[in-house]
Amino acid sequence: MVEANVFTGYSVGGANSVVVSHLQFADDTLLIGNKSWANVRALRAGLVLFEAMSGLKVNFHKSSLVGVNINASWLSEAASVLGCKVGKIPFLYLGLPIRGNPRRLLFWEPIVNCIKSRLSGWHSRYLSFGGRLILLKSVLTALPVYALSFFKAPSETDRWIWLPDQISGYTVRGVYDLLTSQEQPHVHQNMELIWHNQVPLKVSILAWRLLRDRLPTKSNLVERGIISVENRFCVTGCGQVEDVNHLFLSCPIFGALWPLVRAWLGVEGVDSHTISDHCVQFIEYAGL
Ligand SMILES: [Zn+2]
Repeated sequence: MVEANVFTGYSVGGANSVVVSHLQFADDTLLIGNKSWANVRALRAGLVLFEAMSGLKVNFHKSSLVGVNINASWLSEAASVLGCKVGKIPFLYLGLPIRGNPRRLLFWEPIVNCIKSRLSGWHSRYLSFGGRLILLKSVLTALPVYALSFFKAPSETDRWIWLPDQISGYTVRGVYDLLTSQEQPHVHQNMELIWHNQVPLKVSILAWRLLRDRLPTKSNLVERGIISVENRFCVTGCGQVEDVNHLFLSCPIFGALWPLVRAWLGVEGVDSHTISDHCVQFIEYAGL
């Protein structure tokens, strides 16, 4: 229709202008053209023709005609010819606001709400730590990357500053350089094995939280005010405070498991006093 000059698309750009007449993705179609009765008639004819040829139905009642700097009476007349309603800008196309001002915070509201609704649904409440991590990753990699690739967020939402490089900001290359240039004295190189792809994710996460003392031990729960200080003692009744070292290493009841594990593996060794030494010791037993 554009080639036959029946429908006139909208020219974008100056000298090397490009004419845009339509954007189509799945069942969401955006038709763009200059304001003219010829265009309105061509649209109507094109859509009716499409229905007849394809056997598909155009949802005129779900469609809207949106004007940019076009008076309301012309627009409503054109909409009635097309059998659709008059829409307003900004409107959503593929979940993104069109012709809103990306410099205003309000523009980002649908995107923020979409992330919120996906993360706060009933399902996320019952997910494990690992499950929540995966959900967060999937939501964050799907929607905002898509939205951010279209629009530049305003400074108010742009307040995350990548501290290691405040000028160029976050780049994958920068992170790689940072990680390879720094020594990590506290984490043994073998610790990377906790993320080995043969280790189930929930085990990796448990080990990761264990090494950083982020498990909900009674001592950590007291510190965060979740349980009272009188309840900080080990569940076995051994009389000691249940912190990560006690629970996994020094408790006479639970700690007694390690010699049994060693006997089962057929290796000899002594008990470590810190969780990280303990992990290194067992990784080495495994001959990795
Ligand atoms: Zn104990």
